[in-house]
Amino acid sequence: MPRILAADFGGTRLRAAVVTGDGVVEQRNIIDSPDQREGVLPIVLDLLERTASAAGGAFDACSIASAGLIDANRGRIIISPNIPGFRNLALVEPVAERLGVPVFIENDASAAALAEWRYGAGRGFNHLIHVTAGTGIGGGLVLGGRLYRGARGFAGELGHMVVDDGGPQCGCGARGCLEALVSGAAFERRATRLLRSGRSPLLAEVVGDETPGAVHLYNAARRGDILSEAEIRNAGHYLGIGLGSLMNLLNPEVITISGGLVAMGDMLFGSARDALKDMAYGPTSGVGIRFSELGDDAGLLGAAAVAEEHLQA
Ligand SMILES: [Zn+2]
Repeated sequence: MPRILAADFGGTRLRAAVVTGDGVVEQRNIIDSPDQREGVLPIVLDLLERTASAAGGAFDACSIASAGLIDANRGRIIISPNIPGFRNLALVEPVAERLGVPVFIENDASAAALAEWRYGAGRGFNHLIHVTAGTGIGGGLVLGGRLYRGARGFAGELGHMVVDDGGPQCGCGARGCLEALVSGAAFERRATRLLRSGRSPLLAEVVGDETPGAVHLYNAARRGDILSEAEIRNAGHYLGIGLGSLMNLLNPEVITISGGLVAMGDMLFGSARDALKDMAYGPTSGVGIRFSELGDDAGLLGAAAVAEEHLQA
């Protein structure tokens, strides 16, 4: 069983821990993500070294799952939206020099897909589509029991699949991407628009003086607000269109979903399932949508799974 020094770098927190081959996570260290432009490499090295020395043993590898665009072949982060200091940062080489073990890096959504396949809701399957449904929408593909990276490692960006070319503007510049219609950020816009229309007093009551978002839409819908529920079901419909297209293209055995939007349960995903069934070309009866149960450790387990795949190659 390999022992991996695993790291999960997100926009809010940097996590590091030791993961053993059977998915046991130990010696967790968590710090706030740095917000400065310069000098983040020493912070990262310090976090990894502290975790390594606390665990006090030899490692087979260090593996980093990070948010953003990752050039895994050259071992660098190209850009990470919420961490300015990660821009064009060569990470693998200095970490390998410091720790003296092989170092791997991977996009966090791709790593999450491998985590579900190896340790989570996708265990026992060979072909899996994973969706990370949080503030943004991301994803990863495990095909034939291996992470599918594409030509340059950017495969699996399913949040930027266009499902309505007349739809709202997406942060990437296109219109009607899944992320512009279904993500946490999209629900913020949906809730704000509905609130301003004045047509939903119940939503206004639920929001109070907070910033309107997904959780308010969901709570208002659960209390019987038809317009809030319609927003969620409309978003689910588009999610189903995206997933249906992916199913027709890839013929997966299972779709796994992680992230904050999982809390919307059947209201969002039931509607997605209906749209998916309508547009699937082949039989879909055997293809389930399963929710992740890996929780906060998903990123660390993903990093470990990436290392294990590399070590076995
Ligand atoms: Zn987009």
